[in-house]
Amino acid sequence: MEKFSDALAEGLKNFHFKNSDYNKLLSEALNDSDVKDFLNKNQDKISKEAVDVSAAAIYEFYNHKKNSSEFSKNYTPQLIVNNQRIEVAYIPNQRKVNADKKKAYESGFALLNMPSDIRKASLNDYDGTGRQEAFMAAVNFIQNYQPGGKFVPGLYLAGDFGVGKTYLLGAIANELYRQNIKSTLVHFPSFQVDIKNSIQDNKVMDQVNAIKDAQILMIDDIGADSISGWIRDEVLGVILQYRMQESLPTFFSSNFSMNELEKHLADNKNVTEPVKAARIMERIKFLSREVIVSGPNRRNKG
Ligand code: ADP
Ligand code: MG
Repeated sequence: MEKFSDALAEGLKNFHFKNSDYNKLLSEALNDSDVKDFLNKNQDKISKEAVDVSAAAIYEFYNHKKNSSEFSKNYTPQLIVNNQRIEVAYIPNQRKVNADKKKAYESGFALLNMPSDIRKASLNDYDGTGRQEAFMAAVNFIQNYQPGGKFVPGLYLAGDFGVGKTYLLGAIANELYRQNIKSTLVHFPSFQVDIKNSIQDNKVMDQVNAIKDAQILMIDDIGADSISGWIRDEVLGVILQYRMQESLPTFFSSNFSMNELEKHLADNKNVTEPVKAARIMERIKFLSREVIVSGPNRRNKG
């Protein structure tokens, strides 16, 4: 039986390419052992009518195989049959796969003044001792939230120092990122310092705008430091008001329960401002559901 590669070569002789370099390389390509193997293995699947398309693919395949470029370091060309025609698929090699993974990892979500090991947090190795409820609430959010869909409140994780609140926020952000949903995690005490420092160069609004319309905003450690009335009302209040209006999910973590945070927010130097604190709490309660996180202090573990 006549070999298919020979039959194709025969067909190609009647097919005149204008460029003779192309013809030369193509006949070289038809002698390539990978090309020959491929043609002989797939002869039943390839239409002999589509010889021009197939010839172009073989040419392209061979050309890439021969040349080493930045592209060919990352991809290995492979001949495939699609719709009875020969086509070239580019298979990313391990180097490329690894580089892509690293990139996704680095850009997975935005961290403002947060420890970068949060990026490694994962729901898969989440130890649920004492925090089953927090874990379930996290999974529920991830299942229910759809960008542009109905509003789903975030979580307000309340619990002692070291129980893994920040870790859980990172794990949620990682899981969401796998679904192309991007979170912004802000360490609130550091954010307060940044805000104070940006007053003199009139950059406060830039700082506020940078986080207020994050797809998912996670405010970590709210209430850890005393908060000035101005930051409470003009910064935090503005951010939360905007997120409420736009139905943007917002998470919080705090050493305080919601009730304790309300007292903390009312405390402005020597004055007590319960009404202003209540206004902020109303927004926090709209945006999130309180979950108490307990369990062992993870920081004491080796
Ligand atoms: P919190 O924010 O409640 O103070 P963290 O999230 O910072 O606590 O957790 C304290 C330490 O324990 C961190 O080093 C964190 O990486 C680790 N940790 C917390 N939860 C887990 C977990 N489920 N699995 C592995 N390590 C965890
Ligand atoms: Mg924390």
